[in-house]
Amino acid sequence: MRNRKPLMAANWKMNLSLDEARDLLNGIKSATIDFNRVDVLVAPPFTTLRLAHELLAGTGILIAGQNMHWESGGAFTGEISPLMLKEAGCGHVILGHSERRTLFFETSETVNQKVDAAIEAGLIPIVCIGETLKQREDKKTFDIIKTQLDESLETSCKNGNLPQSVIIAYEPVWAIGTGKTATPEMAQEVHRFIRRWLIENFGPNTGETIRILYGGSVKPDNIKELISQPDIDGALIGGASLKTDSFVSIIRFYDS
Ligand code: PEP
Repeated sequence: MRNRKPLMAANWKMNLSLDEARDLLNGIKSATIDFNRVDVLVAPPFTTLRLAHELLAGTGILIAGQNMHWESGGAFTGEISPLMLKEAGCGHVILGHSERRTLFFETSETVNQKVDAAIEAGLIPIVCIGETLKQREDKKTFDIIKTQLDESLETSCKNGNLPQSVIIAYEPVWAIGTGKTATPEMAQEVHRFIRRWLIENFGPNTGETIRILYGGSVKPDNIKELISQPDIDGALIGGASLKTDSFVSIIRFYDS
């Protein structure tokens, strides 16, 4: 029996004005959520973090940055530091999202630096990995996942130590924003592989405790099946997290 509490994490990407964000946050806030059964997190754009921090104070809803630099400060135009995210109210940070990797040329090497900096600063990283359609068709999914894990968590592997609060998000690139979802069985197969990798590298306690989220066109009508898989511990949700109704029904997966 799994004793990892599911986490439903909203990745807003570069969406929503301040007014739209206020409406959505108020909508989530006024929903009845059983926080004994689910953790909830929102990752708004940087300019909305402060508003989210103020509106969500005392609700138990968690806040994440969508990216950060690994340095603590300096001449890095356009970047944001771990401490700045903390000051803006974040406890988590999404790292290595496939859009960062493909559109902004982030590598697993820099993701590793960011993971180290996040842990050092007391932020919980949500480390994203996932294969492209071509890699899946070429039957390279497990090789790619293993390489991304080895490289994105290189320092932690060397030290043999990873905080149990760290979160992994498996997001097949071909399923993000496309409406194509991995079947629950396909997703579970990869989650099981990630779980084994975590156990091999960090031991059974850590490997069985770390949450592995699924991301890729998660919607109210597929969350129930996905979350019923033994190694799927929640979801990272893009499009369906931008509307109160759909995000709240994903959060309340336990209702149906
Ligand atoms: C994402 O941005 O991480 C994501 C999974 O997006 P979507 O739910 O829209 O596929």
